[in-house]
Amino acid sequence: MNKRIWLSLAEMGGEEQNYIKEAFETNWVAPLGPNVDAFEKVLTDYLGYQKHVVALSSGTAAIHLALLQLGVGQGDEVICQSFTFAASANPIKYLGAEPVFIDSEASTWNMNPVFLEKAILDRLDKTGRKPKAIIPVHLYGMPANMDAITEIADKYEIPVLEDAAEALGSLYKGRKCGTFGDFACLSFNGNKIITTSGGGALVCPKKESATKTLFYATQARDKAMHYQHSEIGYNYRMSNVCAGIGRGQMQVLDKYVARRRAIHQYYVDQLSGLPGISFLNNPSAAYQSNYWLTCVLVDSDIAGFTREELCDVMEKENIETRPLWKPLHLQPVFSNNAFYGDGTSEKLFESGLCLPSGSGLQNEDLDRVIQVLRAMY
Ligand SMILES: *Cc1c(COP(=O)(O)O)cnc(C)c1O
Repeated sequence: MNKRIWLSLAEMGGEEQNYIKEAFETNWVAPLGPNVDAFEKVLTDYLGYQKHVVALSSGTAAIHLALLQLGVGQGDEVICQSFTFAASANPIKYLGAEPVFIDSEASTWNMNPVFLEKAILDRLDKTGRKPKAIIPVHLYGMPANMDAITEIADKYEIPVLEDAAEALGSLYKGRKCGTFGDFACLSFNGNKIITTSGGGALVCPKKESATKTLFYATQARDKAMHYQHSEIGYNYRMSNVCAGIGRGQMQVLDKYVARRRAIHQYYVDQLSGLPGISFLNNPSAAYQSNYWLTCVLVDSDIAGFTREELCDVMEKENIETRPLWKPLHLQPVFSNNAFYGDGTSEKLFESGLCLPSGSGLQNEDLDRVIQVLRAMY
């Protein structure tokens, strides 16, 4: 049997174990400690724009605490990109609010600004209230159309929470994803561009909001020697051991991004001439995806096979591929939520596939994937 080729495996850079060892030797195995501080510092420096980064237990926790600070509560509405992982929207429900889903544009596969504005106006009309926040996503690392989204958000004075979970290292107009929104979330889950084995971060606009995030993430303890609480808190802080992994990963982030981009280019060079095959590519020089995952669309009428058939054949060859995210407005759990769109994300979902894209893959691994796709004809 051929060696299994995985979609997106975590890869260690080398220094991670040293930082973990240090945590053990200095008895900083508990949450908080020097690795957490250092990891936050390196993320803050990396992103720039004078942001304040708080390391948390997951990207989902980051979204939750951002929405909490944006005042989202019972009965509110929050606008969210439909074409994304459920974690983008689940925290809206944790707070008793309802997501309003927006379709994608064909160029970036992310939030379509036209439907964003339509939705705001229609919600105002139907409910008499503005949605409390807007969550655009940089899906698969491709930056969303942040100029257009920000302009609409500013016009209606609605804050933006950027879901940059898949987009660490991506740039929009030369500026790093994760620095555009009022808040932004990052994820260091096992399959993301870098990992802490599980973790995330909230990128905050000010020192005060970072302090508030820390407060909520550590059970909302009031300033008192005894345990005193005036608000409901959460246990969402990243541990010092996980942050040690993150410090090592940040040393190789640039290398991993370069490799993922090279993998995308390799697939495109080898495959884009095939009938019915197309890729999610940077739509212009303003967009510089980290190409976390290389995504391919199969137009079955032209190619003569469907994305399911391709996925099945890949699996038989011991190659892991994955359909694109199923749009959230099509998910049973969100079937009653409002949706504004024209079917773009649904069509992408029906014809798209993620190809193995891990930074540890060799060109000979990619050649196997390419061969299987070529043999479909
Ligand atoms: C992974 C991911 C998240 C959630 O991050 P976790 O760290 O797994 O909680 C949120 N949004 C998107 C788009 C993601 O891909």
